[in-house]
Formats: sequence, structure tokens, C-alpha cells
Amino acid sequence: MCGIVGYVGKRNSVDVLIKGLKNLEYRGYDSAGIAVCENDKIEIVKKEGKIKNLESSVSSLGSSHIGIGHTRWATHGPANTVNSHPHRVGCVTLVHNGIIENYVKLRKELKDLGYSFKSDTDTEVACALIDSIYKECKDKLLTMKKANEKIIGSFAFAILFDDDFDNIYVMRKDSPLIIAISDDGNFIASDVPAILEFTNKYILLEKDEYGVISGDKVIVYDNDFNILDKEILTYEESLDSAMKNGYEHFMIKEINDEPRTLTATYEQFFKSDINELLCNMPDFSKYKSIDIIGCGSAYHAGLVGKSFLERYADIPVNTYLASEYRYEKNFSDSSTLTILISQSGETADTLAALRKAKDRGIDTLGIINTVGSSIAREASKVFYIKVGCEVSVATTKAYSAQVLILELMALCIGVRKGIISLEAANDIISDIKELPSLIEEEINNKPSYDKIASLIYKNEDIFFLGRGIDYSLCMEGSLKLKEISYIHSESYAAGELKHGTISLIDKGTPVIGLVTDPDLAMKTISNIKETKARGSFVVLVTLESIFDEYKNDDFYDEVITIKDVDSFASPLLAITIFQLISYEVAKLRGEAIDKPRNLAKSVTVE
Ligand code: GLU
Repeated sequence: MCGIVGYVGKRNSVDVLIKGLKNLEYRGYDSAGIAVCENDKIEIVKKEGKIKNLESSVSSLGSSHIGIGHTRWATHGPANTVNSHPHRVGCVTLVHNGIIENYVKLRKELKDLGYSFKSDTDTEVACALIDSIYKECKDKLLTMKKANEKIIGSFAFAILFDDDFDNIYVMRKDSPLIIAISDDGNFIASDVPAILEFTNKYILLEKDEYGVISGDKVIVYDNDFNILDKEILTYEESLDSAMKNGYEHFMIKEINDEPRTLTATYEQFFKSDINELLCNMPDFSKYKSIDIIGCGSAYHAGLVGKSFLERYADIPVNTYLASEYRYEKNFSDSSTLTILISQSGETADTLAALRKAKDRGIDTLGIINTVGSSIAREASKVFYIKVGCEVSVATTKAYSAQVLILELMALCIGVRKGIISLEAANDIISDIKELPSLIEEEINNKPSYDKIASLIYKNEDIFFLGRGIDYSLCMEGSLKLKEISYIHSESYAAGELKHGTISLIDKGTPVIGLVTDPDLAMKTISNIKETKARGSFVVLVTLESIFDEYKNDDFYDEVITIKDVDSFASPLLAITIFQLISYEVAKLRGEAIDKPRNLAKSVTVE
């Protein structure tokens, strides 16, 4: 959450910062601001709302060789201009990503020293703290180390000191920060897309490290002030993957990416057959149980994974919301594999869950998109989902790829344990290889989604119903719809609705029923009928063969059919339909699809 960017070098920093912030806006868009050095003086411009508000206000700034910028996802204090970053106290100007947990205590101590505060933020307290330490010790590295020792919480800071306008100073604990390098200047950023227009060479700053960045030099120190020989990494994705490429929104662009990105996901394991997959995937069959941990859509991907791993690999699986796992008693031991799912690899609760599992000596596996992110580095093993940059806050291609990886794990373990024959596995592999073209066909079926969207978009409550895997997929469908359209939506296990929630079904209430498992079809359809009897408007999403069997039954108003495919392929086809319907509904309602209110992409606060 929150995007930090900074630049020092030959270019005009104002332009670099605005471009960088635009590419980081998915990380937070409550307010934005920059601080640049102009004529040996700090000039700060900050504005409530999106970057475009800031952009129209920076024209008064002259050229500057050094500056820092921030796009905020407010945690402490409303999203107004005063609370926006950069903050400035004494001789220190800084931007911050994270939360200072002990800010109340620190603020009191600093007030006793004579500091006063303009904003409600924890960040301004950190700024004053750094100023007070620096005034005393006059050593910038020592100041950062001492501040690090005093602050409890998560942070990445980029700092400008008034007596040194040649260098940006950075430090981090649990919030991400990279330092990027080019011939005409150096950059800092929360994530690589911010600076991809200028360079793809970067260094990862790690926990308890400090950086001093000038136009032609980058020095990184460890906590004992040893200079580190940091590896310079190359970001392989092109800038294109972080661009809309002619699409109206990133979300629809990213759904359109799915055929390509799902191919990239499975091709890292196989191009031809099951033997190749068995060679390329580690042997997980020794584990007696699996814990899967995630937040939001990543958690929903884990629920689908649980069904696959239990059904096809015969392993008991527990799924946990990362924010709960941390505080629950956990009975796993060394025979458990703990899987952490996070697109960004920086999700604060998932990272904390990983550390909890590791502290207990449990093997961990990250399913991650961002190469070199904290979870990717700290987990014992990592699978990258290979979907490239995902900008839209509502995940689409990353969720689908997470599900696919879990399915491939289930398939592999199932074969190794003799539950799935090699022949059956190869049939599944063929279906998976067909997925990209089937998803493309689905995407081309736009008139159907338009029609359904036009029939439901004015409602304020929509229910999703399914059983088994379909229920897990409905949870993701419902989240997708509510996060971008602001329509209240709930997902229910089909059999559970009558235990209370059916009282909310009224004449015309849309119910989206997902039926992809022939064995459960009759039961789910009965539950859908129970809502129909109470006047619901039913949209049925089902396999062609199931529809053929039940189409003459009078229980649906609209239907979208899915090609008859193996059970490994159908979840990914079903979810694309939900993603497309949600997108069209949000579009009809005129919402900010890529940047829904109150949300941010990479959730780096707990
Ligand atoms: N806690 C800080 C604030 O509320 C920073 C939040 C962020 O990471 O954007 O201003």
C-alpha cells in the first residue's frame, strides 16, 4: 500500500516523480505529493485525491535534480491534504509506507521535547523523531539506525535532509523498497513499474538496510554500517505489461491477458506431458497435510486449491485467512507444508503468517507474482505465477494463475501417489493446454455479459450460490463484483441459504448460480429453485452437458454455458465469466474500475 518514488540525477525530478507516481497509483490513491529541492530549498506540493490533481498543481515548480514523492493509502487520519506525504519537520522531509504502531507514545515524547504536529498521521511523528535524533547526533546513518530501533511497526522511508541535497536516504523494515540505477540518475520506488520507463536495473533493499543514493552512486549499508555488495537485478517484464495497451481499463486488459499468462504459468512446468510436469515440480507427496494461507482473492484461490488437493491428492488441507492464522493455535508440524499465496509477495499479514510458520520449523512454499518480493525471498520454496505486472486493484489474471498452480500440485501429487493414472493425467494436461483458447472464446462472448450486466446492474444486493468448488469460485465472483461495482453481494454454499439468509431474497433479487459439478448439479439446482420460488432473478452459469439435462426445468432466467471440459479446466472458465460480468456491471454503474474506493493493490499494512 502506498507508493513511494524518488529520483536524483540529470533529469527534472518533477517529471520523473509524477510519471513514477502514476505508475504506482494502484498502490493507493487517497492523496499524493512530492517534495523537490529548488534553489537549495525544499518545495512541497500535495493534493487530496488522485495523481491527476497533483499533476495540475506542480507546473509552478521549476527544474530540480532531486525529489521524493508519495501516493497515499490512508491509515492514520483522513485522506486530506494536510495528512498527505511528504511530511516535513525541522530539517527532515520524508515519505513513508507502513504503520508506526508506537506513534502515540513517540508523539508524547516528542511533544515533551517541544515538537508540535500539524497532521493526524503516524508519519509526521516519525519525521519529528528523525529530526530530533539527527539534531543530536549529526550523523545521518546513525540517525536512521537509532530511528529504526525506536520505531515499532512497518516502514519504508525515503528522506531528504536540509543540509544534503545531493542524496536521498532510505531505510526499511517490513515495507518494500527498491533502488534503481541508470546512467543519468538513480531512483527509489516501492515497486519496479514506477521507474521502468527509465531503467530496468534495480537493487532490493532489505529489512534493516540503509541506502544513500546520489546521482551517480548508490551505497547500501547493513545494520552495522558495513557496505553491502548488493546484486543488481534486471526486471524482465516489458513496460507494455504495465500499460493499458488500448484497453479502456487495466482490469479488462488483464482479463484479456489470461490466455497468455496461464500458458506462461503452466509452461514453466510442462509443454508436452505429465512426465515433464513430474520432472519439474518438486515432490510434495511426503507431506501429511497442507495449510494454505492468503488474504482476499488469494485466500479464495486457496479454497479452490483445497478441493483439488483433497480430492485428487488425498491430503487434508486447512485454509486460513492470513490475518487470523497469526493469532490462532496451529497444530501443524514438520509433516505439514504451509503454502502462502500473495500476488505482490508483500501482503503484510501473509508475510507475518509465513514468519510464524518458519519459526515453528514448518516447510513453506510461496505462490507469488512479484519476483524477489519479501515472501518470495523468505519462503523455503517459491513458485512464480508469471502473469507479469497486474495493475488493476481487483485481481483477475493473478487469481487464475494461483488456482492453476495449486491444481498442478494436486495433479502431480495425485499421480505420484497412484491416485491418478498417467493416462488420465495426460488427458487433464490436454484440457489445461486447451484452456487459453477456450478463455479467448469466452472473452469474445461479450454480448452475453453485456446483457446480463444490463439486467442486474441496478440492484443493490446480489447473491452467488454454489456447492463444493463452485462455492469457492462464487466467493471470488462475489468479491470481484462488490469490490468494483459497490453492489452488496454475498456468496453462499447453496444448501446453507435456507438457514437464514434466504429471508433476504425478494422479488427480482439476482441470484447467480454456478453449477459445474455434474455430481452436485441436482442438489444445487434444487437450492436455486428455492430462491426462484421466492421471486429471485436467476442467472445460471453451467456446463453445456448439465444445461442440456436441466434446460427444460423452469428455474433460470438467463444462462451462460461453459464448454464441457475436465474438472481441472472448468473452474478457470467459470471464474473468467464472473470477472467479465463484474467488469461490465461496474462499467454500467460508471465506477472507477481499476481503482475502487478505499482499496489499494498491495496490502502492506496489517
Ligand atoms: N501510515 C501512513 C499514513 O497514514 C502511511 C500510509 C501509507 O502507507 O500510505 O499516512
